[in-house]
Amino acid sequence: MSPTKRAGSTKVAATKTATRKNPPTKKLVSKPKPTPKKPTPKKPAPKKPTPKKPAPRKPAPRKPAPKKPTPKKQVLKPTPAPKPAAAPRPKAERAVAVPKTGVIPPAAGASPYDIPYAGAPLGAHVSTSGGIAAAPPRAVDIGATAMQVFTKQASQWKERMPTAAEVQAFRAALAATGVGFVNAHDSYLINLASPNPALRAKSIGSFEFEMRRSNALGLDAVVSHPGNFMDDRASGIARNADAIIEVLERVAGPTRLLMELTAGQGTVIGSSFEEMADLLARLPAALQARVGVCLDTAHVFAAGYDLANDFDGVMTRFGDVLGFHRLGLLHLNDSKAPLASRKDRHELIGLGSIGEWAFRRIMTDQRFADIPKVLETPKGDDMITNDRRMLRKLRGFAAGR
Ligand SMILES: [Zn+2]
Ligand SMILES: [Zn+2]
Repeated sequence: MSPTKRAGSTKVAATKTATRKNPPTKKLVSKPKPTPKKPTPKKPAPKKPTPKKPAPRKPAPRKPAPKKPTPKKQVLKPTPAPKPAAAPRPKAERAVAVPKTGVIPPAAGASPYDIPYAGAPLGAHVSTSGGIAAAPPRAVDIGATAMQVFTKQASQWKERMPTAAEVQAFRAALAATGVGFVNAHDSYLINLASPNPALRAKSIGSFEFEMRRSNALGLDAVVSHPGNFMDDRASGIARNADAIIEVLERVAGPTRLLMELTAGQGTVIGSSFEEMADLLARLPAALQARVGVCLDTAHVFAAGYDLANDFDGVMTRFGDVLGFHRLGLLHLNDSKAPLASRKDRHELIGLGSIGEWAFRRIMTDQRFADIPKVLETPKGDDMITNDRRMLRKLRGFAAGR
């Protein structure tokens, strides 16, 4: 669950939480070992600025270099992540990159579009206030080429399908942008692992609606949080898997299901790579290709995977246990909460307990090159400024800045 404030959705913090204490949980991997002085991770060789095709439209007038956002407060970190040496910025890289198909990026303020970026779709959660067709232009406003949306009020059970006209308006709005990946995030109320038959049935109904709606809208994926087991972990995993099977067997379509790794709060399932692998292994072979994993950096860090000090160890573990072929989406969030705190608290990139180094790694590591990436960081006072700044930062990381 994201604590991020979003327009049109009321935050329901941890309503799904357990009523009883955690049973002894499985030991998590990637315990913070007393790390020996780490050799500075090798940076990939800076990409040669590839000569861009002549832009079809006039590049926006060059703006004065935007001020570096000053971190409001310094969050305490276990060990400062090594800072890569700031490479001098090659002039040629300053060419303006605009979305493939169109909509001119906003002129005011620092725009991520002035940093060239040729990687997989990169964006943020955007509001659908005013209708889902209003979302793609918002993605353009912040400099996004990927976006996550709620296809309904995430804090309510009420369901509806989009009308044909709404679907058409959404597809048209999307086609007018360079947004190349869209995913829905399912409702916070859903608990497919619940031992309560009434709540589980309601959850299955809502989850099925989400899959139908997202397929109708032609979305690439639905991100779903594994549920809370409440009574018994193994039974909860089985109930969650059975619910997924039930719904996917009823709803066909191109939209993939991505199960999100969780922070491990209360009795929630899926905070260890092993447990997620266990959940997915229960799905029949025929459904495997339709299901993948969403890795949320804040969640896995809170679950005990030390992205700040053992990035390579964590990712090797992920590859071994779940496999990169299953990785369908990255949620890029720094964490307000410390390592292994099991608290789901998102923070702006570089300002939390993870620190910016892990995000630099993600933005330059070939294993993530083709994986869409979406921010769920705090929006702040408006829906544009922070996201634009964060996306600019990430594009800068990708460019070795
Ligand atoms: Zn979260
Ligand atoms: Zn997330």
